[in-house]
Parts: sequence; structure tokens; C-alpha cells
Amino acid sequence: MKPLYFDHNATTPILPEVFEAMEPFLRGSFGNPSSPHPWGLEAKEALERARRQVAACINAQPEEIVFTSCATESNHMVFSGLFGHSTRGRIVTSTVEHPSVLAPIERLEKRGVRVVRLPVDENGRVSVQDAKDACTPDTELVSVMLANNEVGTIQPVAQFAPHAESLGALVHTDASQAVGKIRVDVRQLDVDFLTIAGHKLYAPKGIGALYIRSVRTLPPLLLGGGQERGMRSGTENVAFAVALGKACEIAGRTVEDEGARQRALGDVLVSGLRELGHKHLPFATGADRLPNTLAVGFRGVDAGRIVEGLALADVGVSAGAACHGDSTEISPVLRAMGVDPEYARGAIRFSWGRSTTEEDVRDLLGRLKGVLDAL
Ligand code: PLP
Repeated sequence: MKPLYFDHNATTPILPEVFEAMEPFLRGSFGNPSSPHPWGLEAKEALERARRQVAACINAQPEEIVFTSCATESNHMVFSGLFGHSTRGRIVTSTVEHPSVLAPIERLEKRGVRVVRLPVDENGRVSVQDAKDACTPDTELVSVMLANNEVGTIQPVAQFAPHAESLGALVHTDASQAVGKIRVDVRQLDVDFLTIAGHKLYAPKGIGALYIRSVRTLPPLLLGGGQERGMRSGTENVAFAVALGKACEIAGRTVEDEGARQRALGDVLVSGLRELGHKHLPFATGADRLPNTLAVGFRGVDAGRIVEGLALADVGVSAGAACHGDSTEISPVLRAMGVDPEYARGAIRFSWGRSTTEEDVRDLLGRLKGVLDAL
């Protein structure tokens, strides 16, 4: 039985071209990019090429890209950099952010920073008007994700960012799930900071980036040798940066075509689900959504049992609800969307990718039917 991986929002495999690009830097090309000899210069050149590739993918300038170890670090750079140990200030965010945004903001809130969390509608979408209204002249930062990891909803960041900026606020967006799946353009979004996660776009785990608008700087999280223009000390992970550069180059070239192909697979999945004969509810179908993501609630079934059943059938998906003993905890995102608990308890996220075919989707539907019938 062919294994069917439908969990690309958790992580993606490394593309062969990406692996090929980084491999020399795990073998003979081992120089430190700060060294002024041929070994160092070779590494430096590769690192700067990667920076240009990442920048081009999001329409930024190379000097606006800082390499980090992951999206979590990129997010922390923004919050810790701007607020440090401050006990004052005001942040506007949303109720559906990833924990790597929610948790550092909650810590700042405990210290005294005021936090406004924008609600979302039944499609998981923040209202542009709510976002504009929440921005007051004393708001330092607005941080709203570009695309949601659980339901795929794309947030209207470009529609409220200029208003926030006009009031003097800085704007950050966690684009970990968006880059590589939809066209992302920092100028069009009008943001100051944007988070990228390598392993969500076919580069390895352990590499990320932060876009920092050229007129902005951030006090560093890590102090030391002054790498990355002083904003992120620590000898650069050249091989993985090269991988991220290559992944961004591929994404930049193919995102529209691949997005259209993946969106069509989503249509096959949605119509196939209707024929399974099990009560279900696809989430966020009224919103602009990532082309590779569909979260679905199966009525009256525990998500954990579906995940387990599918895993036994060699299918990888993730649950939108976690089972703790006798009770099932609904994900905060689905709660914020006001999803009926009968469906939310059985929430499964399907996320496909570049290697997924229509045959895989049909095969998935067959195996899913087997699991649901048995439950
Ligand atoms: N932000 C979003 C929206 C994510 O989906 C994830 C990972 O799932 C992260 C941030 C964190 O990524 P990492 O664990 O690579 O730091």
C-alpha cells in the first residue's frame, strides 16, 4: 500500500533539487562565511546567493532578510526585540495565531503590555474594520498571521496594514504557512516584519528567516559575533540557508501553477467527501484559503480515532482536536470560529503538497471511508 502523506502543513519533505543544492555544503564546502580566505568566501557567496533567492521570492531586498533557526525564533525576534522586558505598550493580534505568536505575546501581557485579540468569523477570518478600529495611536505592533495552519484561511493583512502604519504602528505577519503556497509580496502587504519557515516549503527543519523592512532594525535576541548585520549572532547554517534559498527560488517560479493544481485536488477531495456517506462539515470554505489545506469536521467521531485509523492505513493527517482521557479538547482556532462541537471534536486537517496526485486523493478517500465505516 502506498503511504499517503496528507500533513504538509506540519512539515514537508525536502525536494530533491533542494537537497542537491545544499549537499556540497554538508561535504567539502565547509567554510565559515565570516572567514576572509577561499573557504570562507565560498560559503559567504553561497549564503548571499541564498539571501537573494529568499528576498526575490517575497519581493524584498537581500539586506532585508535575516536567517534564523525556525519560524518560532523569527517570531520571537519581533516580540522580544520590540518589547524586551517592557511593562508597557499595546499589541493587536488575533485569536487564531500559532502558539509561537500567542505564547510570547501572553508573556508580554503578564508583564503589563496591553493586548487586543481580534476575533474571527465562522471562516476564521479577521474583519478588516475590526483590525482598523483596534489600531490606536498608542499601538506599537500589529501581528496577524498571513495564513492559518489549521484551516488555511488567508487573512486580509494588506487591507489593514497601511492604516496601522499610518497611525505609527509596526506590522508583523507570520507567513510560515503562506510562503511557497501563495504569492507573497512584502511591498504589496506593506508589512515591516514577515516570518518564513523553511520546512513548510520543502527545505529542511532548522532554518527560517525574518524579513525586516530596510528602514527598521531589531535589537538582537542573540548577541555575539555580529553575524546577520548584528541582528542574529551565531555562525550561519550555510547548508540549510542554501536549501531555503533554493526552495524559495522554486516556489517563486512555480507557486501559481502549483497552487492551481493543488486547488483542483482540493475540489476532488471536497466532492469525494460528499460521497462517503458520513456527516461532515468542511471548514472555512467561505474564505480565501490556502490551495493545499482542507479541515473537515466529522460528526460524532473523535478526531484522534480517525487519525489512528488512518495511520494504520498508512495515511498521515493531523487532528484539530486533542483527546485527553474521556474528554476531547477542541482546538482554539475552531473554538474562535464558533464551530459546532459535534463537528469540531472530529476535526481532521488534510494538507497536501507538490508530490500529491489526484490518484492519491481518491486513494485517501477510499481508506478514509474504511476507517469511518469501522468507527
Ligand atoms: N507559525 C505557523 C503559522 C506555523 O504553522 C508554525 C509551525 O507549525 C510555526 C509558526 C512554527 O514553526 P517552527 O516550529 O518551524 O518554528
